[in-house]
Amino acid sequence: MDFSYATVARHLPPTPMWSYPVLNAAVGATVLVKHENTQPIGAFKARGALTLLAGVRTGTVTYSTGNHAQAMAWASHLFELPCTVVMPEGANPSKVAAVRAWGAEVVLAGAVLADSEAHATELAERTGHRLVSPGDTPELLAGVGTLYDEILTARPDLDAILVPVGSGTGAAAATVVARELAPKCEIIGVQSAGSPAAHDSWRSGELQTRPNRTRIEGLATGRGYDLPQRHMRELSDFLLLDDDRITEAQRLLATAAHTLAEGAGVAGLAALLDHPDRFAGRTVAVVCSGGNASPQELAALH
Ligand SMILES: *Cc1c(COP(=O)(O)O)cnc(C)c1O
Repeated sequence: MDFSYATVARHLPPTPMWSYPVLNAAVGATVLVKHENTQPIGAFKARGALTLLAGVRTGTVTYSTGNHAQAMAWASHLFELPCTVVMPEGANPSKVAAVRAWGAEVVLAGAVLADSEAHATELAERTGHRLVSPGDTPELLAGVGTLYDEILTARPDLDAILVPVGSGTGAAAATVVARELAPKCEIIGVQSAGSPAAHDSWRSGELQTRPNRTRIEGLATGRGYDLPQRHMRELSDFLLLDDDRITEAQRLLATAAHTLAEGAGVAGLAALLDHPDRFAGRTVAVVCSGGNASPQELAALH
């Protein structure tokens, strides 16, 4: 996998990674928070879209519940390329507005992401623009890998990295980078028990489709994706969480690390809270993968 560090570094500075004593005390471990919420679109997916579009420079059609859409819209804006995003009808209005603000065309179609995907496939055929799968696109994995390169170049001594999983591009890239830079560092995937398609695909070794019952957008993909799943076989473990634990972790990150994260962005921290004995005294990184919480989500943190 070619990680295209130079492409990403040309447009995006490395994100900060900080440790917070109050957070460490609450968790009972040394926790490093990798702040992907500071990306221009508020999520790590900027890295993947940038890498893809820097290489192909073509108009695209894609489908997403939110952050992949914003990433494609942002990178298309940067390279002055047309971009159409199909989002489910119930998509988070803040994310829809952000996609439009970057100049992409938004089509709201379908009750769930699978319906949006079907619509996007038709649109791509009709327009001749490239259909971009949020999961099965090698350039997206390669771009996202730069995040794990930053973490493990800075801290090759880490015991583990906890990675929120939706389609699995992040977790897949993490395993590839860790094999090179820190083979002893465990890469652990985390998903919501309310939307376990990637988890169940990993456990069973076959791509699975599952209902999305979680309210955590970034973790709800509804199906396993082939390309990331092939790399994810090297994950040390894959944990499932309750949504309520994620809300608790959002509160903790807000108060102990002055960081507002969306639900997916605290999945790693929530897993630490769920398994205090397993991580006690260890040095672990959690990827704060995004900060695009909706107003309703923020209101629920009271
Ligand atoms: C997309 C996303 C995830 C899941 O990443 P995958 O690479 O799809 O597994 C996690 N958190 C946030 C904020 C996301 O936008």
